Amino acid sequence: SIPLGFFGGIGAASRAGVLVKGGSYLEALNDAAYVVFDKTGTLTKGVFQVTALKPSGSFSPEELLEYAAYAEAHSTHPIAESIRQAYGKALDGNRMSGYNEIPGHGIQVSVGGKEVLAGNAKLMEREGVAFAPPEDTGTLVHVAIDQAYAGYIVISDEVKENAAEAIRALKRYGIRRTVMLTGDARATAEAVGRRLGLDEVHAELLPQHKVEEIEKLDKQKSGKDKVIFVGDGINDTPVLARADIGVAMGGLGSDAAIEAADIVLMTDEPSKLLAALRIARKTRRIVW
Ligand code: ADP
Ligand code: MG
Repeated sequence: SIPLGFFGGIGAASRAGVLVKGGSYLEALNDAAYVVFDKTGTLTKGVFQVTALKPSGSFSPEELLEYAAYAEAHSTHPIAESIRQAYGKALDGNRMSGYNEIPGHGIQVSVGGKEVLAGNAKLMEREGVAFAPPEDTGTLVHVAIDQAYAGYIVISDEVKENAAEAIRALKRYGIRRTVMLTGDARATAEAVGRRLGLDEVHAELLPQHKVEEIEKLDKQKSGKDKVIFVGDGINDTPVLARADIGVAMGGLGSDAAIEAADIVLMTDEPSKLLAALRIARKTRRIVW
């Protein structure tokens, strides 16, 4: 049976905007040693904006954006939304066929009889499309049309306002190591990691690699140590389920992520994790 104090703790958490799906998770928070974050939508706002178009070869900026917009027509990824918004025109669904979204890579689709790829460098490598090293850093969406490199789109995302403070506070609270896992490019990931003062950054990961990183931490940890994973997206569901304590962003987060999580932060603020830790500590004092 669950001690009565846990119900009080769960109630206090929910008043603080933190949904805890059971007393055992509240108790487990007291042994949290590692906090692992997803980047996009978790530490960053996940609201992307197109900031530059860099066509290649004979392609015009308009063509680059149009094909990318068609490729992103059906994706729910925040990157896709920003490209459709930058294009700003209606998309004719009749021109498209054979849509294929590849997790951690991007999109493959046929548009007006042309084979279009839109995604990261990994997607281009996988499909054998060569390109010169880009002169921009940040989140880049590369586009290829009929196997010819058409250029890239520069997209920027902002770090959440209180994220750096939340990371510092977690360390002060006794969290031993803070880690970020992301599918995004290494240069972008490292810049975010430096800004936030994270202990460790792992970039260019596929969803299954994120699970492997959690498993590595599980092997390193000792005794009662717990690993918390905080994420938002559809891609994060396996990691949320694998971590000792899976924490999902409730606002921007996908339904699948909220379902798979043990704890949901209703307002999407990383600082709410600290509120949960404080309530857990207080609850333990009342219960034991
Ligand atoms: P994160 O780990 O940052 O939350 P994801 O796992 O959702 O990111 O995606 C990893 C990377 O895969 C993105 O940074 C992007 O480069 C690429 N990607 C995923 N989906 C798309 C898409 N719809 N369009 C373009 N690129 C995509
Ligand atoms: Mg994400």
